[in-house]
Amino acid sequence: MPPTVVVSARGEQRVRSGHPWIYRADVVDVNAAGGDTVAVVGPRHRLLGHALFSDLSQIPLRMLTYGDAAAGSDLWRARLEAAARFRQSLKLDATAYRLVHGEADLLPSLVIDRYADYLVVQTLSQGVDRMLPEITSLLVDLLKPAGILARNDPRVRTLEGLEQKVEVLHGTIPEAVVVREGPVEYEVDLWRGQKTGLFLDQRENREAAARYARGKLLDCFSYNGGFALRLARECSETEAIDISADAVARIRSNAARNGLARLRAREANVFDELRRLEKTGARYDTIVLDPPAFAKNKASVANALAGYKEINLRALRLLTPGGYLVTCSCSYNVNEALFAEMIHSASVDSHTPVTIVEKRLQSRDHPVLVGVPETYYLKCFILRRVE
Ligand code: SAH
Repeated sequence: MPPTVVVSARGEQRVRSGHPWIYRADVVDVNAAGGDTVAVVGPRHRLLGHALFSDLSQIPLRMLTYGDAAAGSDLWRARLEAAARFRQSLKLDATAYRLVHGEADLLPSLVIDRYADYLVVQTLSQGVDRMLPEITSLLVDLLKPAGILARNDPRVRTLEGLEQKVEVLHGTIPEAVVVREGPVEYEVDLWRGQKTGLFLDQRENREAAARYARGKLLDCFSYNGGFALRLARECSETEAIDISADAVARIRSNAARNGLARLRAREANVFDELRRLEKTGARYDTIVLDPPAFAKNKASVANALAGYKEINLRALRLLTPGGYLVTCSCSYNVNEALFAEMIHSASVDSHTPVTIVEKRLQSRDHPVLVGVPETYYLKCFILRRVE
């Protein structure tokens, strides 16, 4: 008998609603091992589709196909091909981008980023982890990369009972890879950089922000200088802040590489620094706030909102009238409505009327799958202080 998992009536309803995740509470009977691709059966023995099965996760099933469509290697090849073709059709002005965005490419829990001739892969469930050799050979066949690295060190892997490890799957991976994003060149550390090396999801927001940036710029939570490097060309002065010494060193070397000698980077805690700048009476014409996810789960939403409000309120006070605030949140748990409410309250408390000039999300190579709110995580509002 092929590996099979039976789900409850509620599980069946969820499958029909199009969300690919089935939770533990909706699993009734298991005849499968962790990592198997299973047939998903409803309470009245109807075949609902095929899914990746995890025996330790809170999300034991991730749907691959619906009805009686098979989920063999042809499906993986076709979906990888389709994902690559879509990225190509976007005509991105960049040599680094997301090639596969998990659920949104109907390849749940699989992330693949491209950095010039190299690919970085993350397999975030038992099912795709087991498929890794097959995925690797499909990628070699389809894209002929110079190297493929598995950056399987995210903590979420432990929730699946998977170890955290980084390994070369194909070819070689150099210590540093040079990529281009619009007019900016970066040196990226695929082995140790945050995420898979760069924050690729902000590429188009940097581009959008460049249309408004001017005067004196303050880039907060700069990492390797993403916004600062792109916006510096439009601004008379640029300051970048990050709490990590490594990040600041990287911002400086990227600035030098791009001939942006005027860009100044410093190591500081943004919360303290915004308060200090306010005391000194400093003013900026453009400010970027791109903090790490403050709300890692539902329980931390209230604290996260307080944190977001604090930095947004202070940034609004530091802005000159007519100035722009590019403000972001990558916390999935703080949805767009909560984020907008927070901005409203920061505007009221700082006595600064602001308009929303643009409301944006993650770059198009990280698409949002309708009906799967988890795939819409990055909010980026471009605000203008009216007076
Ligand atoms: N803006 C970047 C990505 C930012 S990622 C880009 O466009 O690529 C978030 C960054 O915030 C990380 O580099 C982290 O080191 C930094 N960070 C986290 N907490 C901080 C704090 N309290 N003050 C300053 N930087 C902080």
